[in-house]
Amino acid sequence: MIRILDKNTADKIAAGEVIDRPVSIVKELLENSLDADATDITVEIKNGGRTYIRVTDNGCGIETDQAELAFTRHATSKISSEEDLDAIHTLGFRGEALASICAVSRVELITKTAGSKTGRRVAAENSTIIESTATGCPEGTTVTVRDLFYNVPARRKFLSSDSAETRRIIDMVSRIAVAYGDVRITMINGGKRVFSTRGNGNIYNNIVTVYGNDAGRDLIPVESSLSGYTLKGFVSAPSASSPSRNRQIFCVNGRIVTSRVMEKGLEGAYREKLFHGRFPIAFLFMSLPAEDVDVNVHPTKKEIRFDDEFKVEDFIRESVAKALMSRQALPQIRKDVIKDVPEAATVRESVVSYEERDVKTADTDVFLREKEGAGPALEPTVRTPAPERPERKKEPAGEQVDIKSLLSSMRDRKEKEEEVPEEAAGDTADTEPFLFDDLDYRGTLFNTYIMATDEDDFYLIDQHAAHERVFYEKLLKQYNNAEKLSQQLMIPLNMSVSSNVTASEETWIGALSEMGYGIEFFGNNTYMVREIPAFMETGEAGDFLSDFFSALEDRPDLTDRRALEKIITRSCKSAVKGGDVLDGAEIKGLMEELAKCENPFSCPHGRPTFIRMTRYEIEKMFKRV
Ligand code: ADP
Ligand code: MG
Repeated sequence: MIRILDKNTADKIAAGEVIDRPVSIVKELLENSLDADATDITVEIKNGGRTYIRVTDNGCGIETDQAELAFTRHATSKISSEEDLDAIHTLGFRGEALASICAVSRVELITKTAGSKTGRRVAAENSTIIESTATGCPEGTTVTVRDLFYNVPARRKFLSSDSAETRRIIDMVSRIAVAYGDVRITMINGGKRVFSTRGNGNIYNNIVTVYGNDAGRDLIPVESSLSGYTLKGFVSAPSASSPSRNRQIFCVNGRIVTSRVMEKGLEGAYREKLFHGRFPIAFLFMSLPAEDVDVNVHPTKKEIRFDDEFKVEDFIRESVAKALMSRQALPQIRKDVIKDVPEAATVRESVVSYEERDVKTADTDVFLREKEGAGPALEPTVRTPAPERPERKKEPAGEQVDIKSLLSSMRDRKEKEEEVPEEAAGDTADTEPFLFDDLDYRGTLFNTYIMATDEDDFYLIDQHAAHERVFYEKLLKQYNNAEKLSQQLMIPLNMSVSSNVTASEETWIGALSEMGYGIEFFGNNTYMVREIPAFMETGEAGDFLSDFFSALEDRPDLTDRRALEKIITRSCKSAVKGGDVLDGAEIKGLMEELAKCENPFSCPHGRPTFIRMTRYEIEKMFKRV
């Protein structure tokens, strides 16, 4: 018998689509507060959100006579017609959240608009308003949700442990807190503050406030725009990858989303820069015309659909790739990663002791700011703005210095630093592209690392990794170009291979000839090599082939380009080894070749070719600044 479900059951089923765990409630409430243009939002939870969730905002509030209506399904102030769906400018629009929440929990809404003298308190449970009264309250809205799923035991059973639900909530609020830099968002769990952002619009500060100082290390700013699309945010230097995608936050027109397309664009920029199984960290904020994206494809609006997926992917890949070409992307040696640098303990009087004082003052500041409720602040050593550097005068040691004026000038300096918005995150000089032409070579260290300097940085270049990179790109280029540059060998090379390599000959022989090899079967599992690519030495060519054949044994079907590239990568060993002595001309030659590479900063296997140390870091270690 077909029956129409009673309203209560229907409501619960519909609610299930929107609310499956406590985190969905927090997300909906937080989005409502953001849609209400709140600048200060507090999220409180207890017991993983099962027993208690409260979101308080200072947003526009709801008119007294409409407060009850907010609980009705499909009641929304955000869109009014089907056409509005084509370009949605708010986070909510389905008018389902409050209706769904009150179908599965006990809800209390307290709200007041700026224009109204009194506020309104509405309590609802089981999809029914049970109380609605006038009340005095500040402007804005507070929604309290208690006893989630008290009336849906089946759902309750599916909740994870409190700590797992708590983690989900904190993770989600963290993402939003980072994305909404100009909103002050405070997260409280079980009465304890987890974090509180400052709401001053600085994404970098928010990342550090929410995820801790370590998360801010080795982040490279991304900023780019292209015909109505803009991308902003931070990505990790290749040296600071993560074992999972957890730290990839994508935000599109203010909405936190998961997006395969954006992931692909991001990771495309890191090709050959990361080891297998490592992922970039990213906080990326994209905006594009609202009509170029459909946000109405998923009940919780987590997924979106782009009109032009390729455009998005390419835009992200190119923007991030550009950022990764900055000098900041090179792995850095820093004082704060080197342990046991004594804090100038042996030096007594002199300027150095004032520097110590400086450090202490900064520490106190951090402490105070935390106490004031602004959350853990930036560690003062993290990325001091660059422009200060050249002007900083060294005080002649031993001379009498007026402490008062010194302290006050330090204070001035610090205030200035704090005013620097956004860019405080990245050393401005650091974001400039790295130029090989600026390098001066200073010989090699341990016959393995080429030393180089430019105006402000000191570099070590791994000669072996650098040569591998050069070799690899030449090979691929040759493979991709129509013209093959080969050289005849006076004495052909004999390569013996296993029988399954012989058997799969047709899958790989073409690829080798594309690279410039002249190779033919000689019988008895042997191949004769008469020609090799012009840029290789005979030994290199032979090593490459034997590695190529042994890699083929694990994977005899070179069906696609990717498989081939993997095998080439595995087979690219360098002729220049660590420990080989290179003379000045060889160093220069190698570096000129490296400069021509598309990905000069890592070897094909993902190891860095360069590490960098800034003059500033060196000066810091010597206590000069
Ligand atoms: P939606 O967000 O999709 O419109 P909701 O059920 O989440 O649907 O909310 C219904 C309506 O209640 C919203 O359209 C909005 O007008 C009002 N509302 C909800 N929360 C708030 C809030 N924190 N501040 C101001 N208005 C709110
Ligand atoms: Mg909503």
